[in-house]
Amino acid sequence: MQDGILNTPAFLREWERTLRGLKDITPGVVGLQLPEGLVRRSGKLAEDIQVNTGADVMVLADPCYGACGIGGVDPELLKLDALVHVGHLPMGIPNAGAVPVFYVPIKQDVDRSLLEGLLKSWDAPHRLGLVSVTQYINWLPVARDILSKMGVDVFMGDGGPRLAAPGQVLGCDFSVPRSVAGSVDAFLFVGTGVFHPLGVSLSTGKPVFRADVELGRLLPPDHDEMVDRWRRKRHAALERIRGSERIGVVVSTHPGQARFALARKTCNMLKKAGYNTTLMVARELGPTFTDRMGMNGYVICACPRIVVDDQSSHSRPIITPLEARILTGDIPWEDHGPDEIVAEDLGDWSVEDEGT
Ligand code: SF4
Repeated sequence: MQDGILNTPAFLREWERTLRGLKDITPGVVGLQLPEGLVRRSGKLAEDIQVNTGADVMVLADPCYGACGIGGVDPELLKLDALVHVGHLPMGIPNAGAVPVFYVPIKQDVDRSLLEGLLKSWDAPHRLGLVSVTQYINWLPVARDILSKMGVDVFMGDGGPRLAAPGQVLGCDFSVPRSVAGSVDAFLFVGTGVFHPLGVSLSTGKPVFRADVELGRLLPPDHDEMVDRWRRKRHAALERIRGSERIGVVVSTHPGQARFALARKTCNMLKKAGYNTTLMVARELGPTFTDRMGMNGYVICACPRIVVDDQSSHSRPIITPLEARILTGDIPWEDHGPDEIVAEDLGDWSVEDEGT
């Protein structure tokens, strides 16, 4: 995320709305949380809040990767009266409501002529699902308008409680495309990058076209090779962890990633299959963590992207909770798929699974 995005009309509108909301509640102390790509601007934004509202501002400086990392500190301890969370849409995390939370999603200004240029001569599938991420979510209604005028039946599904807008996908939640997969021939992802389109493809089995607004190109489905490569890598990690002497089952304390109930179940399942396991909790789960803790391998019950994006930087194998089920023989390799976070997995440690 580039610093320049803080000067766009879309961001400035959200920021003005936030300052007005803060003034209405006259907070004494405001916590300010920014995503990793923008933390260097925390001083400027903190000053802006202070000057406009008179509040003291405390920057919550631990790394934050999504609305899943909301807060992360006890508002009572810091005497916070409000929290400003920049970068993401709300995720419906209950504890986030301990003080008023002002979400300032980062969205790119819509460029209708760019979208028209990409889509107007496209021989689009007749029934199309539209998906995007927070940064480009406001482009979807415009894309729908253009495509509808071309005679395409457009579907923008609604997803689970972690999602705030029609058509939205997260790296840990593809429930939106799944909700309309039975009604569409293909999906169009509006945005940049391959991670989210790959997840849509894996979770629906449908072709995914990409309107890449940074490259300015409409790209055809090209995920077969990526899916193959991803499956081969995951299979290799699974074989490396098989037979390990001790496996760490790890949860992050980021509130929207804290799958304690799933970790407990996973730990019990591995034990029954003969593995020595240790439950662990930490805020950050980088390579330093996995080296330092001395396990032979780890099951990551935190952000699903850690396993997808970061395996090559960890010297020990890291696998998903779903892969742990394959490891123990609970499900076959054919059921392998993306790891997603669902509400029931976020229960506490003390939830015992059946049969333990
Ligand atoms: S993909 Fe990871 S960082 Fe993004 S919202 Fe989900 S848990 Fe958070």
